[in-house]
Amino acid sequence: MTDSIRISSQQQSRLEIVFDHLEASEDARRRLAQPKQTITVNIPVRMDDGSLKVVQGWRVQYDDTRGPSKGGIRFHEDVTAKEVTALSFWMTIKCAVVDLPFGGAKGGVCVDPKTLSRLELEQLSRGYMRAVYDVVGPDRDIPAPDVNTNATVMGWMADEFTQIERRQVPAVITGKPLGLGGSQGREAATGQGALQVLNIWAQRAGKSPEDLTVAVQGFGNAGYHFARLAHEAGYKVVAVSDSKGAIYSNDGLDPEPIWRHKHKTRELKGMVYCDTSVCEEADFDQLTNDELLELDVDVLVLAALENAITQENAEGVRSALILEIANGPISPEADSILSDCNIEILPDVLVNSGGVIVSYLEWVQNRSGDYWAEEAVEHRLAERLDREARSCFQLADDEGVSMRIAAYMQGIGRIAQAMDHRGSQDFFNSASS
Ligand code: NAD
Repeated sequence: MTDSIRISSQQQSRLEIVFDHLEASEDARRRLAQPKQTITVNIPVRMDDGSLKVVQGWRVQYDDTRGPSKGGIRFHEDVTAKEVTALSFWMTIKCAVVDLPFGGAKGGVCVDPKTLSRLELEQLSRGYMRAVYDVVGPDRDIPAPDVNTNATVMGWMADEFTQIERRQVPAVITGKPLGLGGSQGREAATGQGALQVLNIWAQRAGKSPEDLTVAVQGFGNAGYHFARLAHEAGYKVVAVSDSKGAIYSNDGLDPEPIWRHKHKTRELKGMVYCDTSVCEEADFDQLTNDELLELDVDVLVLAALENAITQENAEGVRSALILEIANGPISPEADSILSDCNIEILPDVLVNSGGVIVSYLEWVQNRSGDYWAEEAVEHRLAERLDREARSCFQLADDEGVSMRIAAYMQGIGRIAQAMDHRGSQDFFNSASS
């Protein structure tokens, strides 16, 4: 265990703005100002050459008032306790925005997983689960994939938990391979949910997909599925990027063959990660990552990492709308600059919630033993997101606030209400007067 790290002062001030719009008790404001629990772990990993590497990681359980905490595990060389805390705070809000019976958490391991062999990666994944074993479980905290972790990694972690428990507990983790109790539809869920929110926005704005050009920063799991589905729905996807660069076509590109090409090396090498980039696609114009962010498109989709747009580059953005698929891709300073330029933002806590909604559906299936076809999963995802997204749009209209503040109001309002139901200062004061 370690001292809790607090959320950033910007997250704190955003929380204050939201509380000023809500009738919530002072207790909720105080409790949501820091995580409930932060665990630091040091994971020993036996390397292929026989040496031992010790890797640091964290699990931050931000809040569990509305149910067991839920959130992905990120493997990245730049992960810090502070970043994991910020991500766990957003997970808490996200689960409440779409009314899931979950609190929020996040895990992170400070490692560049692409430098590990497959066996080393498995050792690390199993080691992480052994290290956090005491604090996770289907009724406590349920991890899932995030950046640089995937179904394979979740499968190893689920298996490690099962071996320690000596019984099957598939609901301990979501995003598992289908053969280990994963759900149909999980892989595309985040992209599918993001497209659904964009469709609602377009419908309200009286625009059809064919009228809208789209650029996607981050051609990973979430960004690819979004781009593929958006292309199929008629949007013109003109550019995509990954960490190595970007490609552009004025006539629009078809994301599916680009993805297949990008993953060729992975298939060839039988590895968990691919090392091919979209910018190896010779048929398209090459752009730098910065140039993609400044394209004159209708919709800029941010699906890579945090702080893609900051006060340094915000003024260069020329799109009318930003769709946040990544968590926290716009810094609070950039948020104000973009809103001064009348650039609308559809926020992460709503836009990327499709992944956690299908994770919830996986957890429900694991607990009931009743497994559903892909159409049934997609239908449940679409139904919930339609209801919750439309209610955010309505709240934004009614209160005259941005979609981000409206989504936070919807989520934090629910959490604060649950906290109050458990007994608040107001209840204590009225009972004693
Ligand atoms: P991923 O690792 O599969 O993909 C990330 C992609 O971003 C990679 O292609 C990487 O090369 C690219 N990238 C990194 N830095 C970049 C840069 N500077 N410019 C352009 N591209 C860059 O991860 P993912 O699962 O797709 O997640 C992406 C984001 O979406 C993260 O913020 C994650 O937290 C968020 N998210 C993902 C899911 C999900 O289900 N996958 C759910 C909710 C939120």
